[in-house]
Amino acid sequence: PKSQHRAVVTGSTSGIGLAVATALAGRGIDVMLNGFGEPEAIRALVETIGRDHGVRCLHSPADMSKPAEIAAMIQEAEDKLGSVDILVNNAGIQRVSPIEDFPIDAWDAILAINLSSAFHTIRAAVPGMKRRGWGRIINTASAHSLVASPFKAAYVAAKHGLTGLTKTVALELATSGVTANCISPGYVWTPLVEKQIPDTMKARNLTREQVINDVVLAAQPTKQFVTVEQVAATALFLCSNEAAQITGANIVMDGGWTAA
Ligand code: NAD
Repeated sequence: PKSQHRAVVTGSTSGIGLAVATALAGRGIDVMLNGFGEPEAIRALVETIGRDHGVRCLHSPADMSKPAEIAAMIQEAEDKLGSVDILVNNAGIQRVSPIEDFPIDAWDAILAINLSSAFHTIRAAVPGMKRRGWGRIINTASAHSLVASPFKAAYVAAKHGLTGLTKTVALELATSGVTANCISPGYVWTPLVEKQIPDTMKARNLTREQVINDVVLAAQPTKQFVTVEQVAATALFLCSNEAAQITGANIVMDGGWTAA
């Protein structure tokens, strides 16, 4: 990535998205954050990233389930930052339920946020990328873009769909200087995961190590979490010129999960 590039990272007020946005800012890239949270906390985040890295940092509260808000977010980034050269589609939610009980509104929300939002951001950002002859589209998929787990019908369907969207966009833009790829982490150490551990220890009467190895990381052969910094480093690499021939790919970083 070059410091004259500008980025939009969806779902970047926490976890993976925040790490990716911070890493991009660390390379001098102006960045628009997106996602929910306490207004005060978001303001602090925007200020910290801008100050620490000497970049322009903005936040859009656009709801990734609302196509009109998504289009307006990309427009705002182009207007205020000047362009959207790097687009990271990262916002995502999860719901765990047997298929016959899966709430219809949860299905619709997950498909909208985890899959359709990427369609809406990409269609809005691509004309500018094509015009400038350079662009990087990075979609946070998941090990669940390649394999399923029970009770996660919407998430697995959306993440599989996201890889199909990514491949199609990669082919359409193959001669435009724009690449489109997925990063597919296994379990990532985010505050979200961390918070579940004490409760699981109590509920199952297990030690912290047992919860991590036998419950959370049962599917992950390395028995280690992926870190948000590792995902961010991969995103940075995909933005480099060395990665110009990586397009339509699904970069798996899952501690061996999908090798099994
Ligand atoms: P997280 O909950 O820490 O972050 C999710 C972000 O998305 C937050 O900023 C949240 O505000 C935002 N968001 C949620 N709904 C939104 C909406 N409607 N509109 C706009 N923003 C919205 O989760 P995370 O673990 O950092 O996950 C980020 C991405 O990584 C997701 O797509 C997730 O599916 C994927 N992923 C996570 C893991 C993991 O183990 N944590 C593994 C594989 C893939």
